[in-house]
Amino acid sequence: MEIPERGAAIRLDCDVLVIGGGTAGTMAALSAAEQGAQVLLLEKAHVRHSGALAMGMDGVNNAVIPGKAEPEDYVAEITRANDGIVNQRTIYQTATRGFAMVQRLERYGVKFEKDEHGDYAVRRVHRSGSYVLPMPEGKDVKKALYRVLRQRSMREKIQIENRLMPVRVLTEDGRAVGAAALNSRTGEFVVVGAKAVILATGPCGRLGLPASGYLYGTYENPTNAGDGYSMAYHAGAELSGIECFQINPLIKDYNGPACAYVANPFGGYQVNAKGERFVDSDYWSGAMMTEVKNEIESARGPIYLKVSHLPDETLTALENILHTTERPTRGTFHANRGHDYRTHDIEMHISEIGLCSGHSASGVWVDENARTTVPGLYAAGDLACVPHNYMIGAFVYGDLAGSHAASTLAEVTAPQHLPEDQIAEAHELIYRPLRQPDGPPQPQVEYKLRRFVNDYVAPPKTAAKLSLAVQTFERMRDEVAGIGARTPHELMRALEVTFIRDCAEMAARSSLTRTESRWGLYHERSDLPQRDDVNWRYHLNLRKTSAGGMEFLKRPVAPYFVPVPGLDDLPSADDTVIPVTEPAAVAGKAPATASSRVTAAAVTEPPSPRIAAVLALEAPTIEQLAEFLSDPNAGVRRTAVDALTESLCDGWGPALIAALSDEDGSVRRVAADGIRELVEVLPDPASATALLESPDPVVRGGVVYLLSARKVGEAGLYRTALRDRDHRVRIEAVRALVSVDDGVGVAAAVSDDNREVRIAVANGLGTLRDGIEVVRKLVADPDPLVRAAALAALGDVGCGEPDLGAVEQALTESAWQVRQGAVRALAGATPSAAVPSLSRALADPHLDVRKAAVLTLTRWAASESAARDTLTGALDDGDADVRAYARRALSSQR
Ligand SMILES: Cc1cc2nc3c(=O)[nH]c(=O)nc-3n(C[C@H](O)[C@H](O)[C@H](O)COP(=O)(O)OP(=O)(O)OC[C@H]3O[C@@H](n4cnc5c(N)ncnc54)[C@H](O)[C@@H]3O)c2cc1C
Repeated sequence: MEIPERGAAIRLDCDVLVIGGGTAGTMAALSAAEQGAQVLLLEKAHVRHSGALAMGMDGVNNAVIPGKAEPEDYVAEITRANDGIVNQRTIYQTATRGFAMVQRLERYGVKFEKDEHGDYAVRRVHRSGSYVLPMPEGKDVKKALYRVLRQRSMREKIQIENRLMPVRVLTEDGRAVGAAALNSRTGEFVVVGAKAVILATGPCGRLGLPASGYLYGTYENPTNAGDGYSMAYHAGAELSGIECFQINPLIKDYNGPACAYVANPFGGYQVNAKGERFVDSDYWSGAMMTEVKNEIESARGPIYLKVSHLPDETLTALENILHTTERPTRGTFHANRGHDYRTHDIEMHISEIGLCSGHSASGVWVDENARTTVPGLYAAGDLACVPHNYMIGAFVYGDLAGSHAASTLAEVTAPQHLPEDQIAEAHELIYRPLRQPDGPPQPQVEYKLRRFVNDYVAPPKTAAKLSLAVQTFERMRDEVAGIGARTPHELMRALEVTFIRDCAEMAARSSLTRTESRWGLYHERSDLPQRDDVNWRYHLNLRKTSAGGMEFLKRPVAPYFVPVPGLDDLPSADDTVIPVTEPAAVAGKAPATASSRVTAAAVTEPPSPRIAAVLALEAPTIEQLAEFLSDPNAGVRRTAVDALTESLCDGWGPALIAALSDEDGSVRRVAADGIRELVEVLPDPASATALLESPDPVVRGGVVYLLSARKVGEAGLYRTALRDRDHRVRIEAVRALVSVDDGVGVAAAVSDDNREVRIAVANGLGTLRDGIEVVRKLVADPDPLVRAAALAALGDVGCGEPDLGAVEQALTESAWQVRQGAVRALAGATPSAAVPSLSRALADPHLDVRKAAVLTLTRWAASESAARDTLTGALDDGDADVRAYARRALSSQR
């Protein structure tokens, strides 16, 4: 391709420029537009399926739902997780606005798990607080957002340009006034003038090299190459905590998340090769990652996510989440190795390092309105320094950035002339590789760069290795500048390597400058292993000087408004910023050879022309979809139903319900999935009632679910469904009867042939705290898993004198699930009856039974000295989880 003339640049103008159309960016665009701003949203991929949300959201990691958790507790939790180096005000925004955001997303059609009474089914994954809110259809979040972006009212306000990749933020007199960009399909040069610029380009996921060696096989979405970190730096903004890396547990060789958030509430846990649980610290800390790494490298490694002990039904439920919502390739990966959760536990590893605030704390410094230190420039999402902000934090900060930017428009003049010198530099940066097409290709240089990141920057860090890293990345400036390219796509890849190099240099220099260890593995300096709360009770910020160098600042931690015992000495009332000098390098030159292990992407078959025709419809109408919905080929009809649920065009509801009667089972299944996904927004749900007569149980089950979730069915219908010939429909019917508080109806299924239905009955009666006689009958059920569920229900319904004999008997059964159920039953007994039995249960050989005993005892830790004494005994338990829960129960009573 030819280098386009700089003077022929395409000029675009807007009020608010949003860079990156992922989680934070789409929300920023929507909020700015709702407040009247003309928005330009630039995305280097395609907004419909770009970013972290495109796949893998199994739940909200950090939802603070009223009645389930308190914002102040969440702030304290994150302060602890981040070893005290936080601006609590920024975290408080996520804590207090996250719930409204969940409700807003729900209005967009995103589905969150609810119990039979319609309350959010928040789960406890961390040792303290319940913050995890599952999203049964999490794979469709991006679809829902894109639908809203494409509504007419938003289309008029938001111009979306896909495949347009900004490379530099333009500034005038220190204020952000636009950006310079490459069109990665046409190669055109584009400049944008804007009154405000929002960076939402996600983390730097391509910093370290994954263990597989594949450049794009990263934990993070690989298009997130640190573009925004680099753009913010060159625009003069401060970045913070860049030495505090992101490192996550993941599946060995698959590089997908291990998903303890999903598996742990189902009874999964992490073990070493000897079968011992070893994680002593809480889930969202770098300290946990130190434990994981040490265990893998010890004689007790490798480590596993243990699931093979779980009952078949639980594993099926787990697979339904992990192999669909989480990632479809995950099931294929295990299957190709001949592994099944029933026979194999999941080998785990740790990820490559990255920069990310969403899972850790490294980002562009922002205040509680997402403002950076450069006027007119905002940052939101994984690249903004708000620790452990995850998905809901990205949405909240996108909203804050968009709203604040829109509120400033009246005071800001639209830029007329954009800075020519900066445009010239950006033009040179973008098109330089075309002048040297035979220069080293991007994959080789990128591989080499990132291997050095692994060698010299990944923990454990030392001054010697970090010095070599700084020298290496300086040297590699020229190698990166020498990359050759021939096409617009290759230009984009070459640019990404410049961003990765910038991030690598920032990571190395920050790690060298923070002369202590903190945040567990994230900043483990093996030459300086101690935390230094005197000299390093500061954020370490960096920025670009006017001379082009990098300078460092210590910013004091702002006073906490939520006290956190043990860390309260860190904040300072004095907010003076202290310059700090990067230590001198202490090592010689590094070796410099590398070779590529990257293989060409496999050629995939194009989809059939009719399917391609459906997919090509940008904003399909029901009239356009009609011919595909009645196509003779089932694959085309399936795709059309998918398009229907993605577009939600006028008339989608009746068409989706009609598809439930399709002659092909796979089409009906997609339609039933759609009904479940869109349960909150499906118009006229009662019109599906007739389909309770469908010959397909998938349809009948879906309809019962729909009627119950939308509260448009009544108990009579559900009682009829309880007699359905398919047990899946009967399970839905039990849950529906619970939702209308029909305990008698639920009890009618007590003698159902299918044990899953009987388990649902036990669980349902526990929820309703009703039906003690029926629960007692189930306690004597021949199936151990039913007995386990019934015993657990006794804990809610009440475990009186007549039940204690059966509970004692259950505590001696061979199935650990029954013993665990018996321990839970004792939660409904008086403490004088329960504590002696629980004390004996603490000697149970199965760790889940002992853990359940500790959790049951926790409720009496404040009032009963016998319970406290028993918990004190558990502090010496051989299992880390049991010890940790006992410690927490006792410390919260002090
Ligand atoms: C595998 C995985 C699983 C996760 N699971 C959960 C979970 O279950 N629950 C939870 O709460 N959180 C989860 N998270 C975290 C959560 O997804 C993120 O915190 C959040 O989505 C980050 O949003 P973002 O907008 O910053 O980044 P993204 O959503 O990734 O968006 C960044 C966008 O910027 C675009 N972009 C990048 N550079 C440029 C450029 N130069 N020009 C234009 N566009 C650009 C990218 O293409 C992308 O679309 C998970 C993250 C990962 C990676």
